Amino acid sequence: MQLVEAARQAGLYVNLITSGVGMTDERLAALATAGVDHIQLSLQDARALEADWIAGTRAHVLKLALAGRIREKGIALTLNIVVHRQNLDRIDEMLALAEECGADRLEIAHVQYYGWALANRQHLLPTRAQVDRSLTAVEAARERLIGRMQIDCVTPDYYARFPKACMGGWGQKSMLIDPEGRALPCHAAGVIPGLQFDSVGEHSLRWIWEKSGAFQKFRGEEWMPEPCRGCQRREVDFGGCRCQALLLAGDPAKTDPVCKLSPDHGIVLAALDEAGNLAEGSAQAAVLMSAPMSSSATSTVPSPVPGPIAGLVRPDWLYRQNPRVTR
Ligand code: SF4
Repeated sequence: MQLVEAARQAGLYVNLITSGVGMTDERLAALATAGVDHIQLSLQDARALEADWIAGTRAHVLKLALAGRIREKGIALTLNIVVHRQNLDRIDEMLALAEECGADRLEIAHVQYYGWALANRQHLLPTRAQVDRSLTAVEAARERLIGRMQIDCVTPDYYARFPKACMGGWGQKSMLIDPEGRALPCHAAGVIPGLQFDSVGEHSLRWIWEKSGAFQKFRGEEWMPEPCRGCQRREVDFGGCRCQALLLAGDPAKTDPVCKLSPDHGIVLAALDEAGNLAEGSAQAAVLMSAPMSSSATSTVPSPVPGPIAGLVRPDWLYRQNPRVTR
C-alpha cells in the first residue's frame, strides 16, 4: 500500500499485475483507497477445468469473481490470457469472456519458452494453422469491439521472421527490482550465468543504471556479433532476447535464434517442424484436460493417469509442483 501511495504522490500511473490468487476483499479495497489505477489479471483459459488443469490449482472461478470486483471498484481492468497449443483453439471463447467481464483491455499472451515452458515446448508450441486462425479471430474482434475493448496480440516469437525488441533493448528502458532488492535489466535475466545484479540496498538506482556491470553487459551495440552488428534492424530489435539466445543457442551473446538471419535459426525451425508434425492442439487438449484434478490444490499431477493420458504426463509432460505454503 505504501508503494502505491508513494507512486501516486509522485504522479505515477499505478498498474498492479497479478494472478489474483490471495486478493481478498480487504486487500482490493485497500489498494483502491491507496490509488491503484489499473489491474492486470491473468487467466489460463476461458474454461474452468482447462484453466485449473494448466494452472495446477483451482483458481479460475475465483479470478472471474475478482474481475467483477475490480470493475465494481472502478479500477481499469486488463485480462491477460496465456495461450498455447492446448487452448489456442478456444480463442473465440476467450474473447467472449473478456467482453463479458467488461475488461478495458485484453492481452493475448503467447507462452514464451523459458523455464518449464521450454521443458514442455512440444506440448505448448501451437501449429501454424492454430496461430493463423487465432489471428483472424482477433482481427475480427478488434473491429467489432473498437472503442470498447483494446486487444493486444502479436505473432508468437517462433512464427515471426525477426525477434522483438526484448524489454525495449537491454538496459535501454527498464529496470526490475526483485523481492531481494536486486536490480535486473529484465525479469528473466537471472538465468544468464556470470551476471552480478547489484542491490538497491547498497547502491542508488542512478548508480545501478549507469555503472552496474549487468546493465552494461548487452547495452548498445559493442557486444553484438554478426549478423546483428552489420544489420539495419539492430536499432529496432537490438538482436532480440539474450535469455532466448542462451536457452536455444547456448550463448547469451549470440543473435536470437528466432531471427531468420541467425546462424542458429535451424533450432527454431526444427521445433516448428516438430510442432507441425504433432496432432492439432485441440485434440491433445481434450486428452490432457480429461484427467481429474487432485483434491489438493498443491498436489497437481492428476493421478492415477488412465490409458492415453499416461503418454502426456511424466516423463513427457513435465509438471511443476506448486510450492507449499508453510506459514
Ligand atoms: S540479425 Fe540481429 S539485428 Fe538483424 S534482424 Fe536479426 S536479430 Fe535483429
